[in-house]
Amino acid sequence: MLKYIDIHTHEYYSTNEVISVYNIIIGQNQVNTEQNKYYSAGIHPWYLHSDNLELYFKYLSQEIEKNNIIAIGECGIDLLKSYLEISLQEKVFIRHVELSEQKEKPLIIHCVRAYDKIIYWHKKIRPKQNWIVHGIKPNEYVIYNLLNQGIKISFGKLVFIANDSRLHFIKKLSENDFFIESDEESYPFITQLYQKISEIRKQSIIDLQISQMNNFVETFKIKLE
Ligand SMILES: [Zn+2]
Repeated sequence: MLKYIDIHTHEYYSTNEVISVYNIIIGQNQVNTEQNKYYSAGIHPWYLHSDNLELYFKYLSQEIEKNNIIAIGECGIDLLKSYLEISLQEKVFIRHVELSEQKEKPLIIHCVRAYDKIIYWHKKIRPKQNWIVHGIKPNEYVIYNLLNQGIKISFGKLVFIANDSRLHFIKKLSENDFFIESDEESYPFITQLYQKISEIRKQSIIDLQISQMNNFVETFKIKLE
């Protein structure tokens, strides 16, 4: 059955027409994971403090053993909103990368003004797991640098905010380059995103759903029923 894939959401919702990946922020969200649902788990750079770090990593390493935690993150580097200095943020990020490689689960990345760092570490580490930078801004230079490095992108509400000329990149993306996310918006926002993105790409919603489902299955090594 065709579904909408929502790769990153902080709003817990349940409907038959969507497969969502609910993001667990370690230390902020207490979640009893349900079977047949998907999650990601990571330490968000906004909530990083050097004194809670080891405890958070302990929680994280327990969570990621669960089968339905299909990705590590969101984690990453934020030069605007994090309390921590960049070198420590990078260290924490690298620990997430290591977990992603060990557990063979892709990485969902939060990045603000630090794209060059993410690309630097991707070049250096050459991870086997997919990296997905979420909440991407409509900056073609950044987007092509990420894609050229083999990093996938994910976006959502920017399609309703940015003007058309800045959304031009969406037409040119190949099917496996990108994911769609509702992030902080609630259902049925994800369906409105598919509608808008399918208009921009001049692609039917059904085609967009099929290609997003294929990308999801391949990237996260998931068997959908
Ligand atoms: Zn998020």
